[in-house]
Amino acid sequence: MKVSWRIGRILGIDICIDASWLVIFGLFTWIMASHYFPSGYPQWPKWQYWAVGALTSILFFASVLGHELAHSLVAVRQGEKVRRITLFILGGVAQISDEPKEASKEFFMAFVGPLTSFAIAVVCSVLASVLRPVSEPFAAIARYLWFINLLLGIFNLLPGFPMDGGRVLRAIIWKFTGNLKRATRIASAVGQGFAFLFIFIGFSMMFRGLLINGIWIMMIGWFLLRAAGQGYHQVVMREMLSNVMAEDLMERDIPSVPSNLSIQKLVDEYILKHRDRAFIVADGGNIEGIVCLEDVKKVPKDEWPSVRVGEVMTLKEELATVSPNDDGNKILAVLGAKNVHQVPVVKEGKIQGIVCRTHILQLLQLRADLGI
Ligand SMILES: [Zn+2]
Repeated sequence: MKVSWRIGRILGIDICIDASWLVIFGLFTWIMASHYFPSGYPQWPKWQYWAVGALTSILFFASVLGHELAHSLVAVRQGEKVRRITLFILGGVAQISDEPKEASKEFFMAFVGPLTSFAIAVVCSVLASVLRPVSEPFAAIARYLWFINLLLGIFNLLPGFPMDGGRVLRAIIWKFTGNLKRATRIASAVGQGFAFLFIFIGFSMMFRGLLINGIWIMMIGWFLLRAAGQGYHQVVMREMLSNVMAEDLMERDIPSVPSNLSIQKLVDEYILKHRDRAFIVADGGNIEGIVCLEDVKKVPKDEWPSVRVGEVMTLKEELATVSPNDDGNKILAVLGAKNVHQVPVVKEGKIQGIVCRTHILQLLQLRADLGI
């Protein structure tokens, strides 16, 4: 189960914290308060290590947020939707709704992240020298943030997909070859190379007694390894989906039911018999809406005999629809945005058929089995 909390909203983007982030926040504060600051500033009182440690932790994660916000703002400028930014155990991730459509856009969107980290590093280095004569603790915080943001920028610029540097590399190859799939394959391979390197370094650090750092670096490597593979599959899938249209995927003969039918009868005589998930609700030739499995599930079982289809259906006017020549990516985007399993295909105000998530998955499975 995934648990996360929304802590705020910046420029229309939800900022969320994943439960796993609390672990890293605690660990990071602990390392700062019990190792890093005591070794550099042995004369501080004990409470100060923890106060400064916690503040450093908060500001570090604010820097990570700044990095992700930079990606997001460029994405928004380019017309993409950014749903949320989530801080989790390995840093931050911005959920950008679509892959960029042009190499130059991808290049800029990826590059702006490390650039922001470097900019924060520069500001912190200036702050560190300005604050030194004024306040030792604040100067120490600024000094650490300078170092960590520099490291963050460099790490993210490593040219392996899906790190920012890997996206930059992909954009460059994409620009020169015109082939997004090949560019992603190469950038992912480099990314997997770095991932194995991280796992190897982490492993050998563990043997040299650097347990926490070793585990940490191995975890980053493992995460990158998975992400690099997934990123490539996503591109392959998007390409596959861009070749199929709603009219190829849709089911044309959709059974229709009257709106005064009870839910109980709908389940017994239609859903279980036809094994369909969605039905058109129509009286005579007049289409009123669509009723699907999700609508049924909202009604408690003991009320099934008394509740009518018309009371739970989605009205025709409120339905998310696609047109017959929308491609698979558009359909998945609509399904995802509305969080439904099927969407009607509408042409000139008339429902032509229904596309289900399962139709798309079946097609992908068939193609995978055939190796095409
Ligand atoms: Zn980034």
